Amino acid sequence: MRTKLVAGNWKMNLTVTQGATLVETSLKTLHSRPDVDTVICAPYLALPRLRDILRNSDVKLGAQDVFWLESGAFTGKISPLMLAEMCVTFCIVGHSETRGRFGKLDVPASTVEFFGETDQTVNLKIKGLLYHAINPILCVGETLEEREAGRTDAVIERQIRGAFEGVEAAELYFAAIAYEPVWAIGTGQTCETAEANRVCGMIRGVLKAMYDDELAQEVRILYGGSVKSSNSKELFHQSEIDGGLIGGASLDPVEFAKIVMSA
Ligand code: PEP
Repeated sequence: MRTKLVAGNWKMNLTVTQGATLVETSLKTLHSRPDVDTVICAPYLALPRLRDILRNSDVKLGAQDVFWLESGAFTGKISPLMLAEMCVTFCIVGHSETRGRFGKLDVPASTVEFFGETDQTVNLKIKGLLYHAINPILCVGETLEEREAGRTDAVIERQIRGAFEGVEAAELYFAAIAYEPVWAIGTGQTCETAEANRVCGMIRGVLKAMYDDELAQEVRILYGGSVKSSNSKELFHQSEIDGGLIGGASLDPVEFAKIVMSA
């Protein structure tokens, strides 16, 4: 049976001090669920402080993005080697926001390239992380426009095939995939449970076609997009949904603990 995984994505929120206070507040409650893998994906600056706070806990440390090479003339980037030194064991890759695909925020088309993520860079990042034994949480999902055009499954299959191109099955056992419909992220609009479960099952089918059934049954597939404690239990108890990637609600320690408990 797959162990549930609940990962908080703080995005560009909380100073180091605020983040440390939040984690210290919620740690006792989160401690009581060692049967659920709980991850906090924090901004880079908070990682050293959180590593020290989480050292003796079951809560794992995650990052929100990475560059793929170990070192070099890449101003402003953070490498998998640097994350590994911070005891980071999970890292989000290909989040719709790093792909420049926003559901609600009105980002001018001219700035979308600033975010710059493509299926190819996602693939390089996944390989860089796996080389350093950091588990990728690959985000995939369609925009509202793509959904309305009936392209949901095709878009997601392309994202998965691109992300894992040239990656061996043996490397992927601890990876996770988060189905995050772009139109549901930060909008308060959650995907209908049955549809979220269907898409997660479709993702498992793509893994089976690319690799084999054994791997497809091992990889955890999460749902993300306006998850709250009021809808998490129903979502997480679907046959194909193994937990969630939680944005806004992970900034509230009580709400996040409730979501973890519901898994
Ligand atoms: C996310 O950032 O991955 C996310 C799902 O955000 P939210 O929960 O706020 O929709």
